[in-house]
Amino acid sequence: MQNWILCDFHIHTTNSDGSLTLDEVVDLYGRGGFDAINISDHILDTASLESARNANKNPHAVLPERFSAYQEMLWRAAQRAWREYGMLVIPGAEITNNTAGYHILSIDIKSYIEPNQSVEDIVAEIHRQGGVAVAPHPHRTNEDGVAQLMHLWDNHERYVHHFDAWEVANRDDLFNVVGLKKFNYIADSDFHEPRHLYSWKTLLRCEKNTEAIKEAIRINSGVSIYLFREGKKLGTSITPPEI
Ligand code: ZN
Ligand code: ZN
Repeated sequence: MQNWILCDFHIHTTNSDGSLTLDEVVDLYGRGGFDAINISDHILDTASLESARNANKNPHAVLPERFSAYQEMLWRAAQRAWREYGMLVIPGAEITNNTAGYHILSIDIKSYIEPNQSVEDIVAEIHRQGGVAVAPHPHRTNEDGVAQLMHLWDNHERYVHHFDAWEVANRDDLFNVVGLKKFNYIADSDFHEPRHLYSWKTLLRCEKNTEAIKEAIRINSGVSIYLFREGKKLGTSITPPEI
């Protein structure tokens, strides 16, 4: 019987809107005993990039012209993570089209993917690059309980066979309808800051290498979700670990 490996496939760094640098993320997860993480900074649709530029705001995304430098940075971090922690760092991105209302999580991609395309074309491009395509936070609500980014869920019958998996849990939320519909699933933290370490994660029963991990998600066998907490008392606020 194979071991279970502890994974998180949805993680943001200061390369987009996360609060920790890539190195800080690697140290936090490495010390936390994780086996594999997928770094998934936002890449953003052109209209959203332009409106940020016009408003003189930081777009909080990896710009197209910076994407190969970003991937080189991920590659260097992966080498250090493996050496120091025996942890895999997989290069991904969250392909973010806020204008059309969908985010698409990619695991193990090789080059920039244009977020302005249709969902079908983005997923096809992820697959062409050998990656895994996941529908994240399928029906997230904001603090006022208003549903956001509903495009994928509103059209889930149309998209179900395109995606390799859906997030059945994202950070503290459980989307039990993903389970009820028997869709392929994973669970992620959608990490933006240290306290998000304590949240839903994925356990996979497979070898600790990227190809085995992708295959486990695709066939969705030996997949389990796991609420990662570290002995904190219920009802107390969670103190993030020192990094
Ligand atoms: Zn998202
Ligand atoms: Zn995200």
